Amino acid sequence: MDQPATPLAAIRARIAAAAQVAGRRPEEITLVAVSKTHEAEAIAPLLAQGQRVFGENRVQEAAAKWPELRARYPDVELHLVGQLQSNKAEEAVALFDCIHSLDRPSLVKALGAAMAKAGRRLPCFIQVNIGAEEQKGGCAIAELPDLLEQARAADIPVIGLMCVPPAGIEPAPFFALTDKLAADNGLTGLSMGMSEDFETAIMLGATHVRVGSALFGGRG
Ligand SMILES: *Cc1c(COP(=O)(O)O)cnc(C)c1O
Repeated sequence: MDQPATPLAAIRARIAAAAQVAGRRPEEITLVAVSKTHEAEAIAPLLAQGQRVFGENRVQEAAAKWPELRARYPDVELHLVGQLQSNKAEEAVALFDCIHSLDRPSLVKALGAAMAKAGRRLPCFIQVNIGAEEQKGGCAIAELPDLLEQARAADIPVIGLMCVPPAGIEPAPFFALTDKLAADNGLTGLSMGMSEDFETAIMLGATHVRVGSALFGGRG
């Protein structure tokens, strides 16, 4: 097989290969290129190669660098993959096209209000704290049904679940559990898998993989 010419081509090839092994079509999997900490000059080559879905983890950073890039590439889709403070909900609704980190009732309230005010309903993933880690974002597994109900009552389009498994241990069981929780709650979207483990995530049903360092190199 020929060597892929760019990191993006290499990741796309790996996504396609993992999908094939899992008996899935590569088009079922959205690559979210996580460009946090990287400047416009690093992002431009990916845009030139046709990548259109990007992820950022901070509202301020995204607001500083994306408007200009978007003026050149209006079909860019911007996803918020990091934690969101309720007081930034309005700004997030104006800037992003999808939110992966809906994780608590106060944020449901703030986002519901912001979406109503803007007349713009963004698809959202509910982030689940799948490893029950003290310091991590995401709702507790036991709280998921209630949070989902609240989000639906607030007219927030919830399209799936997102998880970040605990570091340093095999992620597959956590991906499998997230898949089961989604199915149990009637959700089909699964945002899971990062640079180190996206192929495993794809084999366990990921619909959105969030890949940063494997595309951009280290984050210094
Ligand atoms: C940074 C980040 C990623 C990408 O991580 P890499 O290991 O660089 O691929 C994915 N998801 C979230 C929530 C992140 O903050």
